[in-house]
Amino acid sequence: MKRKLKSIIFAIILIMASNLFAFSAFAASDPSTGCVDFLNQNITGWVYNPSNPNKSIQVHVYIYRQDGSLVWCTGVTASNFRQDLYNLGWGNGNHGFSFSIPWDTFDWGSIPGYLLDVTAYAVDDAYPYHPTIFNSTSIQNPVHAGSLTWPISDIHYYLYDTTYATEIQNAATNWAYTGCGWNKLLPCDRTYANNNSAMDIFSYSDSTDGNNGYTYFFTANGNQVYPWLPFSDYRYSSINLNNYNISTNPNSPNYVQSVVSHEMGHVFGLDENNNNTSSIMCQAGHGRLADFRGVQFVDNYACNIKNP
Ligand SMILES: [Zn+2]
Repeated sequence: MKRKLKSIIFAIILIMASNLFAFSAFAASDPSTGCVDFLNQNITGWVYNPSNPNKSIQVHVYIYRQDGSLVWCTGVTASNFRQDLYNLGWGNGNHGFSFSIPWDTFDWGSIPGYLLDVTAYAVDDAYPYHPTIFNSTSIQNPVHAGSLTWPISDIHYYLYDTTYATEIQNAATNWAYTGCGWNKLLPCDRTYANNNSAMDIFSYSDSTDGNNGYTYFFTANGNQVYPWLPFSDYRYSSINLNNYNISTNPNSPNYVQSVVSHEMGHVFGLDENNNNTSSIMCQAGHGRLADFRGVQFVDNYACNIKNP
């Protein structure tokens, strides 16, 4: 009897131990990793599981309102070949993804402030828990302390120099119609009346200052103020483009457009965003990606925060 009890206890311990092993295997975290390179009309990036280098795993994307309610989600297998990943020795390199988000189909009337959070997960279905590879709330752009007081729904620019008229128009249109969610920037077009302009655009040529351009901020009386500390609100701005630097860039005219978009972002209240090389608000000298992909989700998001 005693021996039987012992064997029963032993059996129970065995079962518990096997459950423990089973549980620990079941609870193992997905070791996958990933990155969202760009988020605009499309979401572009890669996901990869280093413990299974040739497996194309999935990326799952969720878009939420600020109250946490879901607006949209999807999951796709990331199997696009990417030479850069292959060159890193990441298996067959078939780990890229790029697909469009149907921003235009969202019920924007039900989205307070037009603010959305985007979260993406790398998902290897061999595991129950999956790592977050992107979370818009963790990469929000910094914004100026001071704000543009010109009505955001009546924005025009005025050209003192028409050299870059096309690139400037493209940059302005890109801000008004980012393709990655709504904002109130309208119409963001050219005016021929200087007193109707929130953005006066000049060019200069300086081989020594190292800038592509810079933006000054003014009160309605024309006094220069600073939107960072000590901060002030401002009524309009001047954007000054350094012809010496931007005209010689091998990626012009796209490069010129990206410089203008960056400076316009300052007018709309956004600060430098040098931690995110995809953001149009990353300075060129800090690695803003040179080939032009336009205003990103995080830039539009920051604009909506700054100009509710
Ligand atoms: Zn800047």
